[in-house]
Amino acid sequence: MIVFVGRSNVGKSTLIFRLTGKYVKRGKRPGVTRKPIELGWRGKTIVDMPGFGFMSGVPKHVQEKIKTEIVRFIENNADKIDLAVLVIDGKSALEIIERWEKRGEIPIDVEFFQFLQELEIPTIVAVNKMDKMKNIRATINKLIEKFGLSGSWDDHKDTFIPISAKFGTNLEELRKLIEEKIKRSQEQRG
Ligand code: GDP
Repeated sequence: MIVFVGRSNVGKSTLIFRLTGKYVKRGKRPGVTRKPIELGWRGKTIVDMPGFGFMSGVPKHVQEKIKTEIVRFIENNADKIDLAVLVIDGKSALEIIERWEKRGEIPIDVEFFQFLQELEIPTIVAVNKMDKMKNIRATINKLIEKFGLSGSWDDHKDTFIPISAKFGTNLEELRKLIEEKIKRSQEQRG
């Protein structure tokens, strides 16, 4: 099982469509139940988790509820999850993370990444919207630091990959990375 997680509007549905040819777009209306959507892909199951974090028109307590449900789903299925793909918006992620830090809060992307690490779920961070990013290397290096990892991008090439879901950039590389990580993850778990 491969789970896709990310804040809303980072381009997660666009990416899943690009990878699988399947359309997972949800209604964005507030209050609409946002259940995980499962679809088959190359003999595996992809689970599209609802987008978390700020969504205009969605009250804070609903956002919190969505987050709790995602966490619960991942905890309950941890042994079945071969891989998580955390999709972030490369153009705005760093700025949002720094804003949260200034308020003394843990940025939600950082929280999710560390949560996945604690559960020992192999994770790929798909840094989307690279078409809008100015300095990709510097941004990814900073993101790595914010996510609590040591070293630079060169040490984490199998985790952080810049892509553009919209323009199709680096998607073949992402596909390869997904396959490799799943293989390794399944070998380790036996
Ligand atoms: P989701 O809420 O995470 O599922 O996000 P969507 O897939 O609906 O995308 C949100 C918006 O970002 C849409 O307007 C997309 O066209 C746009 N988008 C998605 N991927 C990219 C990308 O790689 N580059 C740019 N510039 N825009 C993108």
